Amino acid sequence: MAQGGTGLEIERQKLRVHSSLEQPKTPADLRARQLRARDLLRGDLEGADLDAYVEERVVTSTLEKVLNTARANSIFPATFGLACCAIEMMSTVAPRYDIARFGAEAFRASPRQADLLILSGRVSIKMAPVIRRIYDQMLEPKWAISMGACSSSGGMFSNYAVVQGADKFMPIDVHVPGCPPRPEALLYGFNMLQEKIRGNPTPGWRSRYNAHGTEEWARGGPASKPSGEALEAYEKARGVLGA
Ligand code: SF4
Repeated sequence: MAQGGTGLEIERQKLRVHSSLEQPKTPADLRARQLRARDLLRGDLEGADLDAYVEERVVTSTLEKVLNTARANSIFPATFGLACCAIEMMSTVAPRYDIARFGAEAFRASPRQADLLILSGRVSIKMAPVIRRIYDQMLEPKWAISMGACSSSGGMFSNYAVVQGADKFMPIDVHVPGCPPRPEALLYGFNMLQEKIRGNPTPGWRSRYNAHGTEEWARGGPASKPSGEALEAYEKARGVLGA
């Protein structure tokens, strides 16, 4: 390069490791750590030294938190689009936005294998029972994102043919505004859902939708007998839709 050539100059540098653990800077530091580890194994480490050693190396958590962290970072959305918003949803899967970075690259064509339903577009009255059935067929734990003005509130379609907000017939965990929301907005909503899953995942509020488990019982299947309360809620939901 200095002589005007066309070569590429590469300078190799060690990256600084961003870690809470202090990295050994010299062979002597590394040796000191080895000796401390040996002392710990022998049971020779005591008092403040032992506390410092444990604090540096042990992370405590609960099984629930670990499970929720794993769930939040391995979401399987359903392959499902409703209207124009779906085009933006598809962009989030493509390389430019790449939802795979957040652990949700595998869209599933079967609700039995999906745990996230993205309502990407307006919901017609005719489509609502179908969507509810797909949602009911998904196994717990499951979540739903309402993407765009139409699925959240009917949007510009204030008429008899479009449901004025999907939360009238199924529980929605996150609403993403916009017409259509850009892929960044959907990803932001997705991040909010991940926060929700990691933080307070209790789905207790969904009980008013009777949105637990699958729908076998409602069709008289052998899975279980519904309680009177559950049956009443289910009938009410179907009544709202006129199904
Ligand atoms: S919110 Fe806008 S882009 Fe999305 S389905 Fe409705 S009209 Fe289409």
